[in-house]
Amino acid sequence: MATSLKKALCGAAVATLVAGAASGVGPASAASSLSADWMLTAENVLLIGTDGTNLSKILEYAYNEGSGFRTLMDQGITGAATEVNHTTISGPSWSTILTGVWDDKHGVINNVFSAEPYNSWPTVFNLLEYFRPEVNTSVIADWEYINQIADAGGYPADSNTFFEFDGSWANTDALVTAETISQILQTTANPDIPNFLFSYQVQADEAGHTFGGGSAEYAQAVINVGSNIEQILAAIAQAQAETGDEWTVIVTTDHGHQQSLGFGHGFQSPNETSQFVIFSLAGNSDQAGSQNLNYSIADITPTILQLFGVPLRSDFDGAPMHTDPEITGSLVQPEDLKQALTAAIGMYGYPNIGNDLALGLRTVVATVPYLLNGVVTDIDKMLQGIVDQDIFLISGLAAFAQQINDFFGGLTVDVTQFLARGVAYLTGSGVIAPTDAPLPPPPGPADFSGSVEALLADQTFTAPDLDDADLIGLLGIDALAA
Ligand SMILES: [Zn+2]
Repeated sequence: MATSLKKALCGAAVATLVAGAASGVGPASAASSLSADWMLTAENVLLIGTDGTNLSKILEYAYNEGSGFRTLMDQGITGAATEVNHTTISGPSWSTILTGVWDDKHGVINNVFSAEPYNSWPTVFNLLEYFRPEVNTSVIADWEYINQIADAGGYPADSNTFFEFDGSWANTDALVTAETISQILQTTANPDIPNFLFSYQVQADEAGHTFGGGSAEYAQAVINVGSNIEQILAAIAQAQAETGDEWTVIVTTDHGHQQSLGFGHGFQSPNETSQFVIFSLAGNSDQAGSQNLNYSIADITPTILQLFGVPLRSDFDGAPMHTDPEITGSLVQPEDLKQALTAAIGMYGYPNIGNDLALGLRTVVATVPYLLNGVVTDIDKMLQGIVDQDIFLISGLAAFAQQINDFFGGLTVDVTQFLARGVAYLTGSGVIAPTDAPLPPPPGPADFSGSVEALLADQTFTAPDLDDADLIGLLGIDALAA
C-alpha cells in the first residue's frame, strides 16, 4: 500500500515537472511545489564515481549489452559534460561533485587532503546529515581521500568503508563493488529508512596513469567498471523487487585522461576536461535513453539534496537536474544516443589562452606538495613528464620548477602547499566566499586537529591587483627563455 502511494506520487511529480518546465515555471516555485513529493518518493539514491574515465572510451568499449554504463544510459539521461576552465585534478573535482560548487569557491587545489574547505562548503553528506539525520548515508571507496571528504565537516557520513589496494586495482574495485552490493541488499531489512550511498572506483584512472588513456589496459578498466556497475544495478533490481522502493542512480567522473602515457591529467586539453553525468531518476521511464546538453558535475549535490527534500544553498554553482528549468529545457531525444554524445564531446575545446596558462601554472605548483606527500617521490621525473609534453609555456614552467626543486632540495609538504595555495588564489581558486552561513557546530566537543596543515589552511590570501608585469614575473617568463 505504501509502495503504490509512493509510485503514484512519483509519476505525478514527473508530470508536474514536465508541465512546469514547459510553462516556464521559475526554479524557486517549481522546487517548493515539488519538494514534498520528492521527499516521499526518492528515498534511495546511489552515486557511482569512476575516477578519470573518458566518456569517449565508454562509448567505444563499454556501450554494449551487459555493461552497466549502457544499461543506465538506456534507462536514464546522459550528459557529456566538461570542466574546461577548472583544474582537472581529482581532489578539486570530487570536491565539486560532493559540494555543488566549483574550485573558485571551495579552493581545493590538489590531492593533499585538508578538511578545512568543507567547513565553509558543506558536503552532500553534511547537508543530508544535518537536515535529515534519519537518512542512512554511506561511502565505499578505494581512494582514502574520498573517505576523508565523507568524514569532513561537522556532520559526516554514517558509514565510511575504505578498501586498501589489494593485488590489482581491478580487484580492489571488485571489493568496493561487493561491499556496495551488500549494503544495497541490506537496505531491504529497513525499507522505511532512506539511503544515500556513494560508491567510488579508481581502476580507470590508475590504468590511465600507468599505461595512458589510449591504452588497451585503460579500455579494459573501463569495461571492468561497466561490468561492476551492471552487478550493482542487478542488486538494486533485487532490492526494488523486495521492497517496491525505487532507486535513483547517478554515475559520474571527475576528469578524463590524456591519450598518451605521461602526466595523465591536470591541464586543459579536451580529453582531460571531459566529464559526463548519467542520471537515472526513479520512476522517470519517459525520458529513458535521452541526452541532456546542460549537465555539469556541480549539479549532482543539488540534485541529491532536492531528491531528499533538503533546502538548497543559495551559493550553489549547480542546480537540480530534474527540476531546474534551464537544465530540463536542454533535454533532447536523439535517435542514436552514441552518435549524439560523440558529437557533444567533439564540441568541447580549449579555454582561452589566459585561463589555460593560469590553470596550467596552478597544476604545476599544486603538484609539488602532492608529490612530496609521498605518493610519488621523484618530483623531477613527474615534472619531466610535463616538460616532455611540450605544452606551450607550461612545459617551460615545469622545467623551471625542476630547477627550483633541485636548488631548494628539502622543501616540505607544508611549505610547498602554503606556496601552492598562494599561487592558486592568485589564479582564481577559493576566491569566492560563501554567502550562506556555515552549518551550526554539532553538539559535543569540537574537533581541533591542531596540525600545521590546518593552521596553514586557515591563512587567507589577499589578491593584489596584478598587472601584466606582475603576471610575467609570476609565470617566470624570463626563466622560460632558457
Ligand atoms: Zn581523478
